[in-house]
Amino acid sequence: MEQLLNLIDGELRPAMGGGWLDVHAPATGAVYAQLADSDARDVDMAVEAAHRAFPAWNALGREGRSAALLRLAHLIEADLDGFAQDESRDNGKPLALARRVDIPRAVANFRFFATAILHFPSEAHLMDDIAVNYTDRQPFGVAGCISPWNLPLYLFTWKIAPALAAGNCVVAKPSEVTPLTAYRMSTLCKVAGIPPGVLNIVHGLGPKVGAAITAHPRIPAISFTGGTRTGAEIARVAAPLFKKLSLELGGKNPVLVFADCDFDDMLNTTVRSSFTNQGQICLCGSRILVERSLYARFRDAFVDRVRALRVGDPGAEATDLGAVVSKDHMEKVLAYIELAQGEGGRVLCGGQRVQLDGALANGWYIAPTVIENLGPQCRTNQEEIFGPVVTLQPFDTEEEALSLANATPYGLASVVWTSDVKRTHRVARALQAGIVWVNCWMLRDLRTPFGGVKQSGVGREGGVDALRFFTEAKNVCIKL
Ligand code: NDP
Repeated sequence: MEQLLNLIDGELRPAMGGGWLDVHAPATGAVYAQLADSDARDVDMAVEAAHRAFPAWNALGREGRSAALLRLAHLIEADLDGFAQDESRDNGKPLALARRVDIPRAVANFRFFATAILHFPSEAHLMDDIAVNYTDRQPFGVAGCISPWNLPLYLFTWKIAPALAAGNCVVAKPSEVTPLTAYRMSTLCKVAGIPPGVLNIVHGLGPKVGAAITAHPRIPAISFTGGTRTGAEIARVAAPLFKKLSLELGGKNPVLVFADCDFDDMLNTTVRSSFTNQGQICLCGSRILVERSLYARFRDAFVDRVRALRVGDPGAEATDLGAVVSKDHMEKVLAYIELAQGEGGRVLCGGQRVQLDGALANGWYIAPTVIENLGPQCRTNQEEIFGPVVTLQPFDTEEEALSLANATPYGLASVVWTSDVKRTHRVARALQAGIVWVNCWMLRDLRTPFGGVKQSGVGREGGVDALRFFTEAKNVCIKL
């Protein structure tokens, strides 16, 4: 069985403790690889290697680092199909989605930050003829990057690319549930000319490896994407150590559908924004709010479209939804569907596990599920489910739509469907969210600030925000 090793100091190695974790294929439920079950000792070794590598990596300058990251991007792109197969096998997502979105985006992350660093400016502030100030932004040494399972390589590279481009070395932990593409990438680092110790990937469990990275005194900054509860634990540990923190956390995103929208465009996109990646994207809209005059028409058309989605073999071209990521996660999502019914929710379609045949009989599949008749304060409409489950709620006025949209502890993304330009601006301003998409969804420009408000996170990633996070600003004031 394949063994997935750590990358520490340029070498692929097993965990120091010698332990292994099982890695499952969600499509079949079977174990297909063993993962290094690392602990604080492996993290220590990685941190030491990163500190040793830092001076030379930083001294390579922007152009040298940029060239190495572009080579890595090129190598991933040249093996796009191999990466996509691995991502689909490890996560359960449709292969076509991994080919179209996950892996190209990982390549784009490296390309974007490898070139963004070449244009990253320093500000100057002139005090007439008294003095001149300039801002010197320097890397701080070693960054800790911890990422989740839903978009494994996409989110992993979204963190490590800006950290490395800015001149830091990295100790990173992918999710233990989906380590395969990070491992595949680690086998390319040497060929790409990334010097030993610059990028270290330590695999294993969150409470062991993630916690050791968070608490390590020689890692001054942590970039984390994952659940809100884990984010709170990381903040609790990191705050007294005065670490820089970037936290990208959960969401319960609203989709506001006004009666004046382009119905067909809205319907097509809302099917996607609800169920892409089995609903396991932090940006998926899970609460669909529909103006009452359109409600019945929308509900009937939407349910028809959702019933027609094909749940099946992630490797098959025709599949719309593959497997959810793990047995635990499947059980969690099914328990939420049961809870919704207990709360008075009416299941319009889906609502159960999908049993496939043959080799896929033990895979973890859930039918895309639409629920109505629930109030805004019930748990189903308050808590993140992170699966193929959406609720529908009608509203009468713009004011009511906003009040429903803002009625959760989360504030990551939101989607607005309307043809009224004035309404667009009013609603966008009033939504409590870090991201507002109007008449579109998941349209991403990597230069824009990305992140959430309230319990969806702290800080922003993307563009200059990421490069600022991964550097320390120093003001130099020179008297003239
Ligand atoms: P988790 O919070 O469970 O895990 C995220 C990462 O943190 C994993 O690598 C995990 O390791 C690790 N971890 C777990 N415990 C600790 C700890 N005590 N200290 C340090 N690290 C730890 O999230 P999931 O992997 O379940 O991902 C789903 C969540 O991610 C959802 O809530 C989703 O909304 C959110 N998300 C947010 C995004 C955003 O941009 N805001 C984007 C994508 C997802 P292990 O795998 O071993 O548990």
